[in-house]
Amino acid sequence: MLNIVIFGPPGSGKGTQSENLIKTYQLEHVSTGDLLRHEISTNTQLGALAKKHMDKGELVPDEVIIGMIDSFLDKCSTTAKGVIFDGFPRTVAQAEALNDLLKTYNTEVAVTLNLEVPEDELITRLIERGKTSGRSDDNLDTIKSRLDVYNKQTKPVLDFYKKLGKVADIKGVGSIDAIFADIKQAVDSAK
Ligand code: ADP
Repeated sequence: MLNIVIFGPPGSGKGTQSENLIKTYQLEHVSTGDLLRHEISTNTQLGALAKKHMDKGELVPDEVIIGMIDSFLDKCSTTAKGVIFDGFPRTVAQAEALNDLLKTYNTEVAVTLNLEVPEDELITRLIERGKTSGRSDDNLDTIKSRLDVYNKQTKPVLDFYKKLGKVADIKGVGSIDAIFADIKQAVDSAK
């Protein structure tokens, strides 16, 4: 299996580039943010819990997220050529859990694509997105909390994968196509 983690701060283009990856490599895609927003829109108990955290820009508890990934893999693993993990793992505990889960399927993360975008550009993009996304977390206060959470809780995940030699740094500024060309090169050399 070709398993890819698409990594980067909020607004770095993970979702956009995931779409390119899906088209090019025919992989399954799991976005924990999308799964959580689906829970919220269908009014589940999990959705209600998630919303409390998401509206403050905080992370949803690890056990909730890991449970979602576990059931996703359970459903797709026999047929999938590989999986793109988008917005996950966001803590070192999640990264460790993903390693353990993938081991049970005799597979592992091939590469972590680290999208690098300066903070002022991220804020501009997220505010712009907020005008049309309808996402209650795309407002300046929540954006600032999300960036803070990213720096404190999520960035350490990079060191986790760096120790395993599995990080490709990608400059996340420029045209979507130019960024994807770099991504493709990184994925092809990790295959
Ligand atoms: P973005 O990358 O723009 O912040 P996401 O859709 O990935 O957008 O995430 C939105 C929110 O969902 C996060 O701020 C967080 O509250 C929650 N969330 C998503 N993925 C995770 C995760 N892996 N662990 C904890 N919380 C998560």
